[in-house]
Amino acid sequence: MERQLICISCPIGCRLQASWTDETDITIEGNQCPRGEIYGREEVLAPKRVVTATCMTAGSPMGTEVRRVSVKTDAPLPKEHIDSLLDTLYSMKIPLPVETGQVLLANIGGTGVNLVATRSM
Ligand code: SF4
Repeated sequence: MERQLICISCPIGCRLQASWTDETDITIEGNQCPRGEIYGREEVLAPKRVVTATCMTAGSPMGTEVRRVSVKTDAPLPKEHIDSLLDTLYSMKIPLPVETGQVLLANIGGTGVNLVATRSM
C-alpha cells in the first residue's frame, strides 16, 4: 500500500511517501530529517494529534460575557479518541479559578494523555 503524507513535525512540511506491505515493512521517503520517518511510521501505524480547543467556564454571571479557557492535550492523542474528547470538552464547564497546566481531564480514554488548561483565569 502507499500513501502521500505531509510531515507536520516542523514548519517545512516535507512531502512524504509511505509504502508498506505490513506493519513490519514500512518505507518512508521524502523526509529531510529522522523526525519525518518517525512521523510517517506513526501515521501509518497509529496516527495521533495534539488537540487544542477552548472550554466554557462555570459561574459566568448572567448578562456578562461568557469566558472560555484555552485547553490542549499534554501529548498527542490517538485519533480514534479525538471525536469523543471534543464531545466531552464542548459540554464541560470549568470552575474558576483555573491555573495554567491544571489537569482538567485525566487519562483520556485510558491513553495516559491529559487535557490541561493553557492559561490561568
Ligand atoms: S521531515 Fe524533518 S524537516 Fe521535513 S517537515 Fe518533518 S521534521 Fe521538518
